[in-house]
Amino acid sequence: MDTSWMATGNCATHPPDTFFPSDGVGVEIARRICEGCPVQERCLEYALRNRVDHGVWGGASERQRRRILKARRQAVSALAG
Ligand code: SF4
Repeated sequence: MDTSWMATGNCATHPPDTFFPSDGVGVEIARRICEGCPVQERCLEYALRNRVDHGVWGGASERQRRRILKARRQAVSALAG
Protein backbone atom coordinates (compact mmCIF):
# COMPACT_ATOMS: atom_id res chain seq x y z
CA MET A 1 0.00 0.00 0.00
CA ASP A 2 1.32 3.40 -0.99
CA THR A 3 1.67 5.61 2.07
CA SER A 4 4.07 8.15 0.58
CA TRP A 5 1.31 10.76 0.76
CA MET A 6 1.74 10.82 4.54
CA ALA A 7 4.96 12.78 4.19
CA THR A 8 3.13 15.57 2.37
CA GLY A 9 0.48 16.14 5.03
CA ASN A 10 0.29 19.20 7.25
CA CYS A 11 1.11 16.96 10.22
CA ALA A 12 4.58 16.21 8.86
CA THR A 13 5.85 19.27 10.70
CA HIS A 14 4.11 18.53 14.00
CA PRO A 15 4.94 16.02 16.73
CA PRO A 16 3.07 12.72 16.13
CA ASP A 17 1.59 12.90 19.64
CA THR A 18 -0.49 15.86 18.49
CA PHE A 19 -2.63 13.47 16.46
CA PHE A 20 -3.23 11.06 19.31
CA PRO A 21 -4.86 13.43 21.78
CA SER A 22 -6.27 12.40 25.13
CA ASP A 23 -9.11 14.92 25.29
CA GLY A 24 -11.47 17.01 23.21
CA VAL A 25 -9.24 20.07 23.26
CA GLY A 26 -6.43 18.00 21.78
CA VAL A 27 -8.77 16.64 19.12
CA GLU A 28 -9.70 20.18 18.08
CA ILE A 29 -6.05 21.21 17.86
CA ALA A 30 -5.31 18.25 15.60
CA ARG A 31 -8.40 18.81 13.47
CA ARG A 32 -7.38 22.42 12.85
CA ILE A 33 -4.02 21.26 11.54
CA CYS A 34 -5.84 18.86 9.22
CA GLU A 35 -7.98 21.66 7.79
CA GLY A 36 -6.62 22.50 4.38
CA CYS A 37 -4.22 19.58 4.39
CA PRO A 38 -3.50 18.64 0.77
CA VAL A 39 -4.03 14.93 1.47
CA GLN A 40 -6.95 15.18 3.88
CA GLU A 41 -9.38 13.05 1.86
CA ARG A 42 -6.78 10.41 1.19
CA CYS A 43 -5.82 10.34 4.85
CA LEU A 44 -9.41 9.91 5.98
CA GLU A 45 -10.05 7.11 3.48
CA TYR A 46 -6.87 5.37 4.59
CA ALA A 47 -8.01 5.41 8.22
CA LEU A 48 -11.52 4.27 7.31
CA ARG A 49 -10.41 1.44 5.05
CA ASN A 50 -7.81 0.20 7.49
CA ARG A 51 -10.13 0.58 10.46
CA VAL A 52 -7.60 2.72 12.29
CA ASP A 53 -9.05 3.05 15.77
CA HIS A 54 -6.84 5.65 17.37
CA GLY A 55 -5.98 9.22 16.62
CA VAL A 56 -7.17 12.03 14.38
CA TRP A 57 -6.94 11.18 10.69
CA GLY A 58 -8.18 13.27 7.80
CA GLY A 59 -9.61 15.77 10.24
CA ALA A 60 -11.83 13.15 11.86
CA SER A 61 -11.70 11.89 15.42
CA GLU A 62 -12.15 8.23 16.33
CA ARG A 63 -15.80 8.88 17.14
CA GLN A 64 -16.40 10.72 13.87
CA ARG A 65 -14.83 7.88 11.88
CA ARG A 66 -17.06 5.35 13.64
CA ARG A 67 -20.06 7.48 12.64
CA ILE A 68 -18.90 7.68 9.03
CA LEU A 69 -18.41 3.90 8.87
CA LYS A 70 -21.82 3.31 10.41
CA ALA A 71 -23.47 5.69 7.93
CA ARG A 72 -21.74 3.92 5.06
CA ARG A 73 -22.88 0.51 6.30
CA GLN A 74 -26.44 1.79 6.58
CA ALA A 75 -26.28 3.25 3.08
CA VAL A 76 -25.08 -0.06 1.67
CA SER A 77 -27.85 -1.91 3.54
CA ALA A 78 -30.44 0.51 2.21
CA LEU A 79 -29.20 -0.03 -1.35
CA ALA A 80 -29.30 -3.79 -0.88
CA GLY A 81 -32.90 -3.39 0.18
S1 SF4 B 1 -5.33 15.11 7.15
FE1 SF4 B 1 -4.40 15.55 9.14
S2 SF4 B 1 -3.58 13.60 9.88
FE2 SF4 B 1 -3.99 13.38 7.69
S3 SF4 B 1 -2.06 13.83 6.64
FE3 SF4 B 1 -3.23 15.73 6.77
S4 SF4 B 1 -2.61 16.79 8.63
FE4 SF4 B 1 -1.92 14.65 8.75
